[in-house]
Amino acid sequence: MELTLSIVKPDALRNGHLGPILGMIEEAGLKLVALRMLHLTRPQAEGFYAVHRERPFFSSLVDFMTSGPCVVSVLQADDAIGRYRKLMGATDPAQADEGTIRKRFASDIEKNAVHGSDAPETARTEVAYFFRELDLVER
Ligand code: ADP
Ligand code: MG
Repeated sequence: MELTLSIVKPDALRNGHLGPILGMIEEAGLKLVALRMLHLTRPQAEGFYAVHRERPFFSSLVDFMTSGPCVVSVLQADDAIGRYRKLMGATDPAQADEGTIRKRFASDIEKNAVHGSDAPETARTEVAYFFRELDLVER
């Protein structure tokens, strides 16, 4: 069983899409094993997205991620990382497949409703960024 980190981003919460997104996650067979709501501070958002620090969109991304509360969760399944990336759809909703979260709920390439880890190493780091081992339940 693999773990991956999901964030339902501030745009999705603001627009009332938390419930439908969690529903899509459950229907896809990805088990929620930890979940919390928080309003990221700038240092927290900058730390989370540190790999993008040199990208031109970095400060705008941090503004967006700190613009309201988000919901972070840990998903567990066989191939959870790949399956959640597929369910999310492409970073740019204009390129996202039908039936994906971003196709349904993302506004643009920045305000794109959800985050999902992209590899086992990043999943481990990202889960540990928000949760302690004791926060994860057995299901
Ligand atoms: P993903 O979230 O699909 O893994 P990236 O890791 O490349 O995408 O980028 C992280 C986040 O930065 C994206 O989800 C999106 O919110 C934002 N982002 C990525 N590319 C751009 C861009 N060209 N312009 C504005 N924001 C962007
Ligand atoms: Mg990424």
